[in-house]
Amino acid sequence: MAPSHDNPKKYNCAEIEQLAQKYVDNLLDKQQRKLFDEHLEYCLPCDKKIQFEFKLREIVRNHARDNYSTDFLHSKIKQILEIPK
Ligand SMILES: [Zn+2]
Repeated sequence: MAPSHDNPKKYNCAEIEQLAQKYVDNLLDKQQRKLFDEHLEYCLPCDKKIQFEFKLREIVRNHARDNYSTDFLHSKIKQILEIPK
């Protein structure tokens, strides 16, 4: 591989935020995923955010199985989001 004069493409935090849903849904292609993972390695806030997204997925999935109403889920998610910093 020839060295490039350009910086290798890196995702910034805004891009990570945009791609977060696709990441947790496993919809990113290999290259995107790699860049995404690289960003998470040095960016703690994004890493935390993604972990949170995964947790949220899990909760939604678990509760969906129990046939909770959408309203219930929304309030549950809101509770989680309101965790003080
Ligand atoms: Zn970031």
